[in-house]
Amino acid sequence: MKILDGKMLSSKIEVQIQKEVEFLNQNFIYPTLAVILVGDDPASASYVKMKSKACERVGMNTLTFAMPSNTEEEILLEKIHELNIDNKIDGILVQLPLPKHIDSSKILEAICPSKDVDGFHSLNVGRATLGFECFIPATPLGVMHLLSEYAIELRGKDCVVVGASNIVGKPLATLLLNAGATVSVCHIDTKDVSIYTKMADIVFVAVGKPNLITQEMIKEGAIVVDIGINRLSDGRLVGDVDFENVAPKCSYITPVPGGVGPMTIATLLQNTLQSAKTKLKR
Ligand code: NAD
Repeated sequence: MKILDGKMLSSKIEVQIQKEVEFLNQNFIYPTLAVILVGDDPASASYVKMKSKACERVGMNTLTFAMPSNTEEEILLEKIHELNIDNKIDGILVQLPLPKHIDSSKILEAICPSKDVDGFHSLNVGRATLGFECFIPATPLGVMHLLSEYAIELRGKDCVVVGASNIVGKPLATLLLNAGATVSVCHIDTKDVSIYTKMADIVFVAVGKPNLITQEMIKEGAIVVDIGINRLSDGRLVGDVDFENVAPKCSYITPVPGGVGPMTIATLLQNTLQSAKTKLKR
């Protein structure tokens, strides 16, 4: 069994990004990510902090706009509009989830697609489906980078994605399909998830339930990519896979933490860099 080491790969990617940021700076381009945080959810605040710190490490600017939980939708839309037309801003990210009274899809659709470094705007989602160049959500793209680093071939492989959210499961399934895999997607209404996981060469899990995937659900030699992040009552961070019992059966597996999480951040930085680099051509 080998570990798919996202921590190692993300550090390598950050070194490369840092060099490219320095080059852009020499050309008077200063990549800048704007992050909007609405409300006081501690997990969201901690993700935003991690993203800002990562930007700092590679020499990118971040501007965090913290807004109270009772912020009106109109005010948030105004802020997005302001950032859309601000030439200094290369990427705009609205930390999810948003408070219930705000329509998330309306907010995501308001972000200019050329600054939508999270890849959640319908234009980017559509382009990704067609395999066109666009911003691709950081978590699924980070997973693809991780598989590629370990030369894991996807063409012809039987893959299952457990979890079908718009931000992780669905875009991941699209990327796998476009890479030539045969893809099943399971979700809360799937009658028996284990039917799909047992026959899969590669199992991807993005649900948010500790120990959802157990040893009996995985075939010998399978690859397991655990995207889930769960904070246990004792403070430990775990994924959706019973790592201890599943790992010995796998050819490769991602740890939590240190697997997909750091790849998500590194890929977000790459997306922001990609946006800033378009200024070189202007
Ligand atoms: P979500 O709640 O939006 O979606 C969860 C999906 O899981 C849904 O499609 C739902 O139908 C499905 N589901 C729920 N219970 C299920 C079950 N018993 N069996 C099969 N499917 C089931 O969540 P999300 O935003 O996609 O996040 C999923 C997990 O991934 C969370 O733990 C989240 O913290 C984590 N996450 C990690 C990263 C990272 O960088 N590693 C990034 C984003 C999300």
